[in-house]
Amino acid sequence: MVAVDVAVIGAGIAGTAVAAFLADGGMRVRLYERSAIAAAASGRNSGIVQHPFDPLLVGLYRATLDAYAWLAEREPTFDLGDDPAGLLYVGHDREAAGRVAFEWQAAWPATTPQVLEGADLRRLEPALAPDLVACRLAVGYPIAPAAATDAFAAVARRAGVDIVISGAVTPAADGATVVGVVTDGRVEQAGAVIVATGPWAPETIDPGGGWRPIRSSWGVVVSVALDDAPRHGLEAIDIAIEPAEPAGPADDDAPPESGARSSVVEFSLVPAFRSSALGSTFLDREPDPTAWLQALRATGSRFVPAIATAPVEGMRHCARPVSRDGRPLVGRASWLDGLWIVAGHGPWGISTGPGSAGLVADAILGRTRADAIPPELRPDRFGTPL
Ligand SMILES: Cc1cc2nc3c(=O)[nH]c(=O)nc-3n(C[C@H](O)[C@H](O)[C@H](O)COP(=O)(O)OP(=O)(O)OC[C@H]3O[C@@H](n4cnc5c(N)ncnc54)[C@H](O)[C@@H]3O)c2cc1C
Repeated sequence: MVAVDVAVIGAGIAGTAVAAFLADGGMRVRLYERSAIAAAASGRNSGIVQHPFDPLLVGLYRATLDAYAWLAEREPTFDLGDDPAGLLYVGHDREAAGRVAFEWQAAWPATTPQVLEGADLRRLEPALAPDLVACRLAVGYPIAPAAATDAFAAVARRAGVDIVISGAVTPAADGATVVGVVTDGRVEQAGAVIVATGPWAPETIDPGGGWRPIRSSWGVVVSVALDDAPRHGLEAIDIAIEPAEPAGPADDDAPPESGARSSVVEFSLVPAFRSSALGSTFLDREPDPTAWLQALRATGSRFVPAIATAPVEGMRHCARPVSRDGRPLVGRASWLDGLWIVAGHGPWGISTGPGSAGLVADAILGRTRADAIPPELRPDRFGTPL
């Protein structure tokens, strides 16, 4: 095999984006994937590009919107749309809606938060349960779950990236320097290696070791066909998008009895062309998705009653790559020359991953210094592999 400048491991949103940027910048790149492009969360998510609240993530989100504009210029099948669909945080507590609106107004006034209830809310979204109160934000771009990853892969391929579907790949090192990747028991040389394997990034870098700064949080999503689907993205106003405490195996094994509330089911609904994406669970272990259908329906129908009887068109599940502080690991690995990481985007990867990929690509291309990446994202902030 011919040596390349950069080997990228993992063809999700992070890996395809960084491969496309680097090849566009003139580098020879090979992208290794053990399964298929967008096989994991990057092809099975809820499908909404969302404005986070954390200022650091907002920086990555804005860079991602720029990256999507770049992508749309090169790949005509990709289109994020000009205007956000809008997001409604929905609940039963008017005070909570007021509080959320106040916080967003103070932090991100351009999201134009607005509290809505009664006839105003019903006029805007007739499908909602009548007793709800909402805070509307002018954010949220629904897209097909794999749209951005597929488009980055297409652009990467056209720019000369060699995409290799192989078995699991790991970085290869000689002393304290990366020399390429190990695939099928042999080393293929590369000047640098970027690990973009989402929740599997720690084990890609430190197989069998104890370095585990990113964990999996498994989500189940149900595609439901709603006759008069809401046009906004919806989320429960008290959504704990990443509960501080992992749910624990007992919850994974036992979906709640029909109708009971569950701490690992949080309501979201994303409008899509044919069917809406009803989410989601937050589980430590890979679930049997069908076991969670009733719990998701029961939770969802409190907000959109038609969900109780809407035909199910499909179910999918995938793992969020969740870091210990909710922020991704982005940049150079301080313990191994030539190793880079772009992983750990949690529930925000479609909204922030390409921004992170751009930071790494710019540093490798010499357009910025490696230390231009915010230090809060350093891959060694939770320690290093031994
Ligand atoms: C239910 C759910 C809904 C979500 N909804 C949204 C949403 O609406 N908006 C949003 O912004 N984000 C959402 N997310 C989060 C988002 O999907 C993820 O953050 C993002 O897809 C992660 O992308 P990634 O490229 O880092 O990793 P992944 O998509 O996990 O890709 C990693 C790839 O690496 C491959 N791989 C792993 N190990 C190896 C190896 N050793 N060798 C070769 N290949 C390997 C895997 O096969 C995989 O293809 C959601 C997540 C879930 C679970």
